Amino acid sequence: MVHDILPTDDVVQKRGIALVSKCSLCGMEAETTAHIFLQCSYSEDIWLFFCGCFNVSWKKAGTMPDFLKWWKRKHKSVCCKDAWIMGLLTLADHIWCERNSRRHDGKAIPARHLKQMILKYIQSAKPSTKGEVKTTTDLICCRKLGIPIQHFPPQSILEVFWCRPDVNWIKLNFDGSSRGNPGHARAGGIFRDHRGGILESYKIFMGVSEVFEAEVKGLMVGLMRARELGITCLWVETDSSAVAISIQQKKILWFALQRWIFLQPYLESITWKITHNFREANSIADYLVRDAAKTGISATNIDFPAHIKDLIRRDSEGRPNYRFD
Ligand SMILES: [Zn+2]
Repeated sequence: MVHDILPTDDVVQKRGIALVSKCSLCGMEAETTAHIFLQCSYSEDIWLFFCGCFNVSWKKAGTMPDFLKWWKRKHKSVCCKDAWIMGLLTLADHIWCERNSRRHDGKAIPARHLKQMILKYIQSAKPSTKGEVKTTTDLICCRKLGIPIQHFPPQSILEVFWCRPDVNWIKLNFDGSSRGNPGHARAGGIFRDHRGGILESYKIFMGVSEVFEAEVKGLMVGLMRARELGITCLWVETDSSAVAISIQQKKILWFALQRWIFLQPYLESITWKITHNFREANSIADYLVRDAAKTGISATNIDFPAHIKDLIRRDSEGRPNYRFD
């Protein structure tokens, strides 16, 4: 159908075989692929019916490529996407079989029966509707197609907290990312005290590296800064469990090894730990990373916009962030 290789009358004629062409479905016009599948009144009735189930107005296309493009475009907006895709193939197949059955066996099925056969065929394939039924129109679409509505299991919501460190402790939240992985990398971090007040913040715009490398580099910059600030009780928090585990197990990769060795005397002289928390509790570091990506510059003591100041206040007041699982 797509490649125009079905033996319709026009194709047979092109091969030099003389015949009088007449569409077997409507008996009115000459038979071509475009006529059988798109312009024939019999086929059009079936397409109209099927599109109607989806609340899509049928648009008569001139050529097969135009028609396929249109079908693909509609796929983005319809509910029951599986059924929409199946419909294209099922309808075309049923129309072609009906043409053959009329032409070779002299048997004709009225359009209303063919519509029911098509629906039964699609229903038996059990197309997925998971998470797609959101409006009344979607609901009606499923009813018309006769396919059951599947729901996702209800989402569970988790409260995630940024916890303040103990008195005399300083907490460092850091993060890193890379566009493209590997691509331009950036990292950021923020030091806060037991009241949730900001001690210092930083953002770094780096060369090309992978996400894991960007995160570890973000941590190393933070640890170097902690050393300069003379912090003696340090709690480091990351939303990357891979980074937390690799540091806890002292598995340091080559790109961070030099700094890690340099930091050893300092780290051995202080009390410190590294833990993992969910992304939702690491929102300030996440902002710093995005800010570094946007501005393309590295800086310290960042002037936070109002909505981030709000988040910092929320953290200091021990208010929850929400995570949808
Ligand atoms: Zn026709």
